[in-house]
Amino acid sequence: MPEDIKTAVIYARFSCSKQREASIDDQLRVCRDWCAREGYAIVGEYSDYAMSGRSDDRPQFQKMIANAGESDIVLVYMMDRFSRDEYDAPAYKHELRRKGVEVVSAMEAMPDGPERILIEKIYEGLAAVESVKTSMRTRRGMEGNALKCKTNGVRVYGYGRNDDDEYVVNEDEAAIVREAFRRSCDHEPVDSIASDFARRGVTTRTGRPCGYSMVYQMLHNRKYTGFYSWGGIEVDGGMPQIIDKATFAMAQEVKPKKRRASEDWGTFALSGRAICSECGHNMAGTSGRGKKNVKYEYYGCRCGAKPVRRDWLEHELAEAIRGMLRDRETALRISHMLWDEPEPEIADARRRAMASKRKAENGLQNIMAAIEQGIVMPEFTDRIAQLQAQKARAERDLASYDEARIDPEEFADFLQCGGGMDDAAVLDSFVYQVMVTPEECVATLYCDDERNEPARLSIARVRTFSGWCPQRDSNPRYPP
Ligand SMILES: [Zn+2]
Repeated sequence: MPEDIKTAVIYARFSCSKQREASIDDQLRVCRDWCAREGYAIVGEYSDYAMSGRSDDRPQFQKMIANAGESDIVLVYMMDRFSRDEYDAPAYKHELRRKGVEVVSAMEAMPDGPERILIEKIYEGLAAVESVKTSMRTRRGMEGNALKCKTNGVRVYGYGRNDDDEYVVNEDEAAIVREAFRRSCDHEPVDSIASDFARRGVTTRTGRPCGYSMVYQMLHNRKYTGFYSWGGIEVDGGMPQIIDKATFAMAQEVKPKKRRASEDWGTFALSGRAICSECGHNMAGTSGRGKKNVKYEYYGCRCGAKPVRRDWLEHELAEAIRGMLRDRETALRISHMLWDEPEPEIADARRRAMASKRKAENGLQNIMAAIEQGIVMPEFTDRIAQLQAQKARAERDLASYDEARIDPEEFADFLQCGGGMDDAAVLDSFVYQVMVTPEECVATLYCDDERNEPARLSIARVRTFSGWCPQRDSNPRYPP
């Protein structure tokens, strides 16, 4: 084997403990495909059948460990194939690493520097929040604000905010909201309203042209009836009303009209990141019409694996991430990563200020040394004043950059109450990919946990009643 070719051994395991899991053949196929794609030569394959994974009493596994060093990587289908035991997995991984072998998962292979990506994505997500600074208050402070019906940095189309951070009607935007409700109550389809709005220059908070989901959310946002809500705190009449309650109720009853030739189905937040566990391909965002012409959006695969509803997957996953962040330790760990790596522009500016400060200090020291040696020049006085001013300016700048930096404790508060990051922003920030199996959806997140593996989130799939499902459901979760 030539030196420059990367080599892999594949380890597969089938436990029989679950009703459905990828068979040894499926695991090997996906792993072989991965090797072909990534340019690895396979130098060995090991498979354990019907072994629990908890115990290390797995003959092929032991053989693979004993032979370690024959390849650059050990490739597994998913990390849980390697070991389910959180205690011996690190020990074996350590042993392999000592021999220069990395354990890689074909389905969860992470890009280099996942934490760096998380940080960048969070900054992107924050950029979408109107006022990061306003959102960075402590949870208690924000709750106090919520009881007083302050915006807490949450932007709602149709409203602005006054100096006391209370919602006030933005008449131009409110006119658009009222028009949307009126046209919807006249049975105009949402996408037709949306495309008209987009043509007239209506944009989302992030500056994208108005689309289906913006109008859809508008028509279902109770806040327009004056119903304030933030983080579980609800105050009816807590903000100015744009839509009266009767009109709002009427809009909720409107049934979508007949399908139009071309519809804007919006962007799928997880497109390119939802992977079919049956075949390893990307699941494409697709849409269709079910019973009673109700519109469904889902992620589906060419191989015919069971599709997953878009709204369910995206929302459950975003909620699961919010749940993960409710753990203070996790939130703090992530915010410390941001503290350690400030925004690039701030980091640059800070470095420049530091250099300027150091230069001024060195200059002052040199002059002092000269004076101590009895050298006194007339221009020293001016130069000293100049350098002292330079030093003071640099220190002022540094203080202001530190002020602008995100305090880990406060940022953890922000993460924990999700301050204004919507589902799409949360998914974009945290999710590297989602593996969709018939029973569950397993998300691989950008952040490492202590075991030095990508964090994983698993959500059980619930069968839905909708028409696009291959099987009819006898036990619908959401009654029609
Ligand atoms: Zn598939």
